[in-house]
Amino acid sequence: MPRIDNDIKLDFKDVLVRPKRSTLKSRSEVQLVKRVNLMRSYTFRNSKQTYDGIPVMAANMDTVGTFEMAKVLASHGCFTTIHKHYTVEAWKEFAENNPDILKYLAVSAGVSESDFIKMSAILEGIPAIKYICIDVANGYSEVFVQHVKDVRAKFPTHVLVAGNVVTGEMVEELILAGADIIKVGIGPGSVCTTRKKAGVGYPQLSAVIECADAAHGLGGHIISDGGCTCPGDVVKAFGAGADFVMLGGMFAGHDQSGGETIERNGKKLKLFYGMSSATAMNKHVGGVANYRASEGKTVEVTYRGDVSDTIKDILGGLRSACTYVGAAKLKELSRRTTFIRVTQQTNNIFGNTT
Ligand code: 5GP
Repeated sequence: MPRIDNDIKLDFKDVLVRPKRSTLKSRSEVQLVKRVNLMRSYTFRNSKQTYDGIPVMAANMDTVGTFEMAKVLASHGCFTTIHKHYTVEAWKEFAENNPDILKYLAVSAGVSESDFIKMSAILEGIPAIKYICIDVANGYSEVFVQHVKDVRAKFPTHVLVAGNVVTGEMVEELILAGADIIKVGIGPGSVCTTRKKAGVGYPQLSAVIECADAAHGLGGHIISDGGCTCPGDVVKAFGAGADFVMLGGMFAGHDQSGGETIERNGKKLKLFYGMSSATAMNKHVGGVANYRASEGKTVEVTYRGDVSDTIKDILGGLRSACTYVGAAKLKELSRRTTFIRVTQQTNNIFGNTT
């Protein structure tokens, strides 16, 4: 008989953060917000490497995890998981020209032999790159766990990110297999159709709360991956215990996002698509394999200019949230967060736009 877990699981849209009395002092509210420290410093469980930066990151998607994006995000102290379709030569050239930002980049790979070979060539050619992001749509297979073990054995001192999963027991298994950071999220993404196609998923806020608890118990870390639609959602992900928050859609549509700018009816648009959408599969592997449904959408998003403005908006939201709960730094945010369940997020009388 199928089992039903009757515990209520929540998404970002189901909660708000309750403000708390605070002892933070400043001459003005603006000063108070400005002074919030968003830098985090982590030492990873298995590689023993350390991270110092603002733990907001761009997803390893074609149009988001680009070198251009990395340059701007790094200038704000943020991280980029570079998509896996750059050549080894392109990587080498980029690394030569941008040696100072390599600590804010990860190389991405799936589990195929060819991905492993390419990733190894990049890492061996550019020793300053210390982060590896191995991700698959479904991180629940034994083959994946074995692959994480193999990568850990070959790269003992690289920071290993592995995912995606949404439950504590799998977070623990991947950390014990050698991963440092577990990527959490199945189905919440803006261009993801897994929940529609496969009916599988887990509300992201609850997934983050549960997975962070499991990871932190073992000295591991997690990334909340997918589902953030506005700066307030990024706040909620950190409040729920995420060590890093990964964004795809929120970084789409900018000058630094890959792909052409399209002009239609006087409106500027950019293409954004899921990494297992028909668009991505046609581009990279010559079509959708017939045993596998495409689980990603292709959308046109409004052109949004320089991503610097968007990142400032996100970091501003985070700083503001910290002052509302009395956190002088991002590190204190989750400890000071109480979520309240709500039936409405915003007043949309004048429409749902900013
Ligand atoms: P977003 O920030 O846009 O809500 O979510 C970004 C995340 O969506 C990515 O980091 C990745 O985990 C996930 N994603 C990207 N492309 C696809 C896809 O084609 N299918 C699915 N199921 N998830 C995707």
